[in-house]
Amino acid sequence: MAQIELKQVEKRFGEFQAVQPMDLTIKDGEFVVLLGPSGCGKTTTLRMISGLEAVTGGKIHIGDQDVTWHNPDDRDIAFVFQLYALYPHMTVEQNIIYPLQAQKASKEVIQRRLKHVVDLLQIKQLLPLKPGNLSGGDKQRVALGRALVRKPSAFLMDEPLGALDADFRETMRAEIKKVHIAEEATTVYVTHDQVEAMAMGDRIVVMSDAVVQQVGTPHEVYYNPSNLFVARFIGSPGMNLLEGVYNDGVVHLPGENHYAVPQEWRAALAGQLSGEEIVLGFRPEAAHANGTGKLHGEVYASDLHGAFNMMHIALEEENVDAIVHIRGERGYGHEIGDTAHFELEPEMVRFFDPHNEQSITLEG
Ligand code: ATP
Repeated sequence: MAQIELKQVEKRFGEFQAVQPMDLTIKDGEFVVLLGPSGCGKTTTLRMISGLEAVTGGKIHIGDQDVTWHNPDDRDIAFVFQLYALYPHMTVEQNIIYPLQAQKASKEVIQRRLKHVVDLLQIKQLLPLKPGNLSGGDKQRVALGRALVRKPSAFLMDEPLGALDADFRETMRAEIKKVHIAEEATTVYVTHDQVEAMAMGDRIVVMSDAVVQQVGTPHEVYYNPSNLFVARFIGSPGMNLLEGVYNDGVVHLPGENHYAVPQEWRAALAGQLSGEEIVLGFRPEAAHANGTGKLHGEVYASDLHGAFNMMHIALEEENVDAIVHIRGERGYGHEIGDTAHFELEPEMVRFFDPHNEQSITLEG
C-alpha cells in the first residue's frame, strides 16, 4: 500500500472552478473520507486521484511516484463505484479473477488471491453465480472482491453503498472497514452522508463549494469544527449556533439569556473576534436540562429518539434562529409550552466569529 499526496491540486471546467487548489496527504494504510454536499467537488477530486479526470493544476504522488500525468491503468489503484460494474455474462469467480488474468498472473497466484478474497468476504457460495442472480449487497461484495484481488496501492470508493437500503448499508460499512483493517489498505472514500463518514473515516475531509473546509479525525470535526459550515454540516441535528453580542466576559443571547464565558476563553475572544458579534455553539448533548440552569426558553417540541428525548427549545418567541436542540434524559418531564432551564458543559462550548465564520481557537 502507499501514501497519496495532493499538492495544490485543482480542477476547472472552462471558467467553472470545481475544486479549488487543495493540499492533502493520505497516509499509507489510512482511511480518508471526502465528505460534503452534492456538487462540492468530492467526486472530481477522487477522479483526479484515479486519473479519470486530468488536473488543471498541481501534482499528485502515489507512493514515491509522480502520477499526475499517468493513465488510470498505470496508477495501481482500484476504483469501487456505486454501480457495481460487474460483467453480467461472467460468473462471480470469473469477475473476481478477471483483473489478475488481465495482468497475466500465474494460476497459482490467481488461486491464492481468490481464496484470500473469498475467505475475507465470505462469498464462497456466490462463486458459480452470475451477477444477475445476486442481491445489491452481494453485488457490492463481489465488486469489492474484484478490487481487492490484485492488491492495489490504494482503493478509491465513490459512494459504494449509495444504492443499498439503510439496514444493509450498516452491514456493508462494517465489512468495508474490516477489509480495510485486514488489508491495511490506503482508502479514499467519497460520501455525502456524515454518519457514514464519522463511522468509517480515520480522518474526514469536509468540502463545500469546491473548498476544503476542514481535515480532521471524526472527533475533531465533531467537537472542534473549524468554521460554521462544518459545525452545521456534521451531526444530526448539527451544532446549536446562537447569535449573540459579547461584552466584558458575557455573551448576551436572545430572550434575555446571558452566558458567562469561561475564564480560559476570554483572552482568545478578545484577540480573535473582529467585532462584538459572536456565535455561541454547543452540541445537543453538551446541554443539561435541570431546574437551576441559567439559560432558559420555551419547550417548542420534543421528539422521542428511543434512548433520549430531543427537546427543541425556543429562547425567544418568533425567532427561528434562537431554537436550540438539547438532549433530555429518557422520561424527562417537560410539556410543550413549559419553560425549560438548562446549562452548558463549559468544556463543550465553542465560539465563532460571524463575520469570517471561523471558529475561535484557544491556542491563538
Ligand atoms: P455529487 O455527490 O452530487 O456527485 P460532488 O461533490 O461529487 O457531488 P462533483 O461531481 O465533483 O461533486 O462536481 C463538482 C462540480 O463540478 C459540480 O458543480 C458539477 O456540476 C461540476 N462538474 C463535474 N463534472 C463536470 C464536467 N465534466 N463538466 C462541467 N462541470 C462538471
